[in-house]
Amino acid sequence: MPMTMERSRAIRMLRGWAINVLQEAGAIHECEEHGWAKDRADPHACQRAIEIAEQDPPSGLSLDEAVAEVRDVLDSIGDTCPECVEE
Ligand SMILES: [Zn+2]
Repeated sequence: MPMTMERSRAIRMLRGWAINVLQEAGAIHECEEHGWAKDRADPHACQRAIEIAEQDPPSGLSLDEAVAEVRDVLDSIGDTCPECVEE
């Protein structure tokens, strides 16, 4: 079944929220040159991000779903910037 606009917009917003949480916790940082998010592979920061997500889940999302989203986004982010790797 094709995704509706509503649904894909909700997913993008959710992803933006998770990235914010990860940045706030210091679990990811942006490449200074290209702006790509990079995983810092810091287990403490990752734990902190999950705590932030638990304290402040987005509206309409359960705690479990909020934490799962943060983990998902973190999994999808590599530890290197794709553009730096190409150089
Ligand atoms: Zn880069």
